[in-house]
Amino acid sequence: MGRAFVYVILGGGVAAGYAAVEFAKRGVSHGELCIISEEPVAPYERPALSKGFLLPEWIELVLGTRVKSADVRRRKLLTATGETISYKFLIIATGARALKLEEFGVSGSEAENVCYLRDLADANSLVNVMQSCSGGNAIVIGGGYIGMECAASLVINKINVTMVFPEAHCMARLFTPKIASYYEDYYQSKGVKFIKGTVLSSFEFDSSGKVTAVNLRDGSRLPVDMVVVGIGIRPNTSLFEGQLTLEKGGIKVNGKLQTSNNSIYAVGDVAAFPVKLFGETRRLEHVDAARKSAKHAVAAILEPEKTGEFDYLPFFYSRVFAFSWQFYGDNAGEAVHFGDYSGSTFGAYWISKGHLVGSFLEGGTKEEYEAITNATRLKPAVEDLAELGRQGLNFALTV
Ligand code: FAD
Repeated sequence: MGRAFVYVILGGGVAAGYAAVEFAKRGVSHGELCIISEEPVAPYERPALSKGFLLPEWIELVLGTRVKSADVRRRKLLTATGETISYKFLIIATGARALKLEEFGVSGSEAENVCYLRDLADANSLVNVMQSCSGGNAIVIGGGYIGMECAASLVINKINVTMVFPEAHCMARLFTPKIASYYEDYYQSKGVKFIKGTVLSSFEFDSSGKVTAVNLRDGSRLPVDMVVVGIGIRPNTSLFEGQLTLEKGGIKVNGKLQTSNNSIYAVGDVAAFPVKLFGETRRLEHVDAARKSAKHAVAAILEPEKTGEFDYLPFFYSRVFAFSWQFYGDNAGEAVHFGDYSGSTFGAYWISKGHLVGSFLEGGTKEEYEAITNATRLKPAVEDLAELGRQGLNFALTV
């Protein structure tokens, strides 16, 4: 059994959805485009885990179908249902999977009250478990995006939360200790407890297989009604290992999002692409990069002469409780804090080799976020860090 398409998008997440919309906008003909996704639903916006994309009906959607092998030389994908799908151009948008506790030597991920959050099925099961635990105790393992956002949701749903992570503060890959302590103080005022500098060592189960307590490496034992695990992700590259060049754990692409095989492109969390501004290859695990890289890859496929190099300014954001922050660029070098850390608008700049390379702002206006975006893109020289701190947002607004 086999089918052939001009364009195949492998994966049904955020990047796949944006790539499909871009193909549709640019007028690809009926029967030319196919999306293959392991998920049973059409691509949707993952951060919201709610809104569906409005895809034209003529896009062939092969849903609930895992691709189990890829033959790059013959331009063919083999699905778990035994179908062969061939392509002229392939966009790899396989994203990433949540890292499981088993990969760190702890078993118990299959217990019904241990939750992960990557796709719609995970979100549904998390909501079910949460609803059955009102007034109970949750342990959140991991202090990154997923941990912080889930902890806030649990609190809003009247569950007592303890967060456990090995680092000295939350969001350790991005936040400075000063930024982290602002959010941690607020979480604590909402009743969240933090246990830092240690990791989970084992679970205790009841006779039905539910987790009833967690044991930590520091010797403590915490009774629990549910566990949420957000310990990072791993890009889904395995289909292409040994066939395409990999870098930084992802599939290496050039400025046109093209892999080491020129009929294959990679976008979103799975792609390691050159970030022009920093002169190096990065793999970003963020939705804005997924959306923009997907659009750029489609333009590069359909209009190769007119499409230049992908020139992306890394952008991350989050919204929890009443907070809303945005970050642009790179958190390399020395951080200079500004603004009112006892109020609601504050931020930081990162200065590396005498230039501004990154900016963070909590509680800004549209104009202020635009200003820090532009300032980061311009990479202005900064000599006096104390003066930069005093100028704060004015620096970005007048640069
Ligand atoms: P994904 O959206 O993960 O899509 C990958 C797709 O490929 C999936 O449909 C998967 O089933 C499919 N697939 C994989 N392998 C196969 C196979 N072999 N066969 C068939 N199909 C396959 N980012 C931010 O910047 N800000 C946020 O606030 C934010 N919030 C988030 C909240 C949540 C709950 C989650 C889970 C993520 C959040 N992110 C956020 C990250 C963001 O969602 C990701 O960066 C984005 O989803 C990446 O898009 P992608 O298309 O590369 O991968």
